[in-house]
Amino acid sequence: MNIALVPAAGAGSRMQSDCPKQYLPLHGQPLIAHTLRALAREPRIDLIVVVVSPGDAYWDRYDWSEWQGRLQVLRCGGETRAQSVLNGLNALAGEVADDTWVLVHDAARPCLPRDALARLIDAVGRDATGGLLAVPVADTLKRANVDGRVVATKPRAGLWQAQTPQMFRYALLKRALLAAGAGVTDEASAIEQLGLFPLLVEADNRNLKVTRPRDLQLASLILEHLDD
Ligand code: C5P
Repeated sequence: MNIALVPAAGAGSRMQSDCPKQYLPLHGQPLIAHTLRALAREPRIDLIVVVVSPGDAYWDRYDWSEWQGRLQVLRCGGETRAQSVLNGLNALAGEVADDTWVLVHDAARPCLPRDALARLIDAVGRDATGGLLAVPVADTLKRANVDGRVVATKPRAGLWQAQTPQMFRYALLKRALLAAGAGVTDEASAIEQLGLFPLLVEADNRNLKVTRPRDLQLASLILEHLDD
């Protein structure tokens, strides 16, 4: 069984907008609707669970019936992304088996390509640890000082940018996040802290995370050509 868990309890402060970024309009729909559609078109995703903040005033404004029966909303988001994911996992306790695969996917990644998601499930479904979509770093990396000047150049060989979904078994993921605490920025790093080695599955830059205002324009363009 594969469950997609979508943390959507962030405020999106870098978007310079009052509206949380997961609800910003994109092709006439809230951004998260595209994220859910990208997940739902994979037949091996049995259930999509969205975690929103307890005070979320936006979710109920929209019609989610397109995914009826396959979509569940939990109003238990936390202070950090990791806490939102952990709260979601805790809320599912008793409903899912320990070995259920959980694919944690950012609400703010609406352009997840169909083939990348399929490759992740193919590769990680056979793996003992779990893994994530990621992209090899293409640019040269600079370390800055407080004055915004370069103090070092980091070799990019062997470096990858982590994306989502990140796919791990339910019980292992819960244990890892509990041990790692609320500060980790992705699931894989919590798993790494247990001494395990998540599998990297290569994706591409279409699966961007909408973070800053210009990203919304990019996401709009990518969505128009996602299945080209
Ligand atoms: O802020 P960032 O872009 O890292 O957020 C990644 C994802 O985590 C977003 O989908 C956001 O809504 C979610 N999030 C959350 N709870 C928080 C902070 C972020 O569910 N407290």
